[in-house]
Amino acid sequence: MTQTEKVLLEMLRENTGVHFLDSGGAYGRHWERNQERDIVHEPPVIVDIEDDWLDIRFSTFHYCRAYLEYDEELTQDFDRWIEETESNPYIVAHQDQWIKDRGWNIIGHGNSYEWENFLDQVIQFITFSLDPNDVDSDNVRLLLQIHGGCDVRGGYTKPRIFKAPYDDVMSDFLYHMSQAMAICSNDPQQHYWITDDAGVHWYYRGTAGLCEKENWYLNWEDHVKYGKEQGKILCSCGGEVTIIGMFEDYLTEAEEDGA
Ligand SMILES: [Zn+2]
Repeated sequence: MTQTEKVLLEMLRENTGVHFLDSGGAYGRHWERNQERDIVHEPPVIVDIEDDWLDIRFSTFHYCRAYLEYDEELTQDFDRWIEETESNPYIVAHQDQWIKDRGWNIIGHGNSYEWENFLDQVIQFITFSLDPNDVDSDNVRLLLQIHGGCDVRGGYTKPRIFKAPYDDVMSDFLYHMSQAMAICSNDPQQHYWITDDAGVHWYYRGTAGLCEKENWYLNWEDHVKYGKEQGKILCSCGGEVTIIGMFEDYLTEAEEDGA
C-alpha cells in the first residue's frame, strides 16, 4: 500500500466523534462501519440495482487515491502551525489563515454535500496554490477533510494536505465525482450514455436533448431497463449496460505508476 492509501484509510477510519447534531446514528457512522470494511479491495464503483432507481456509489478511497498524492511535509507544517498558534484544525477560517500566513493563494473552498455526486462519503476541501501567480498542478495543493459522521454539519476528520500528481487533476477531481458513463456490451461505440449530475440525467453519447430529431437518439428512460430481480441493467438492444466512473482512468494510471 502506498503512503497516500495508508493516509486515506486512516482518515476513513478516524474517530470523528459523536456530534451533537447527529440524528441518533440510525444508519451508523461511516468511520465506525469503516473499521470492518475491506475498503482497499472493494470495487471503485458500486451499483445497487433497485426497481425504480440505480444506487451508484464511488468509493471515496479509490476516488481520492486516483487523483491525489499525500503531502507529508505540508501536513506536518499545518499540524505544527496549529499547535504554535493555538488554532483549531477543524475550523475553516483557521485553515485559511495557515494558507495565508504561508503566503500562498486560496483558489477555492468546496463541500461535496452541496452538489449531486456519486461519492459514498462527503468531503470538504480547500484548494490553494503555493505560487500566487501560477495555478499549475505542480503548485496546487488540496486540504482535505472526510466526513465520518451522520450530520454533515459536524464530524469531519482532521485535515491532510495532498498534491496533484497530474496536470489539470484538480478540475477533474472536482467534476468527475458527478460524472459516469453507461456502456452497452452489444455496441459500446454507439450505445452509451453520460451523466454529469450523478445520474439525475443520462445523455445519449453525452448529448442533451439536442439530437432527439436524429434516429440514433436513444432516450435513457425508454431504452434502458433494470430491476432488482434480474439484477442487471439492460439496453433495448439486449446488451448489458455497465456503469463506469470517469475517475477509473486515473486509477489505472495510478496503478501503472506504482504511485
Ligand atoms: Zn445497446
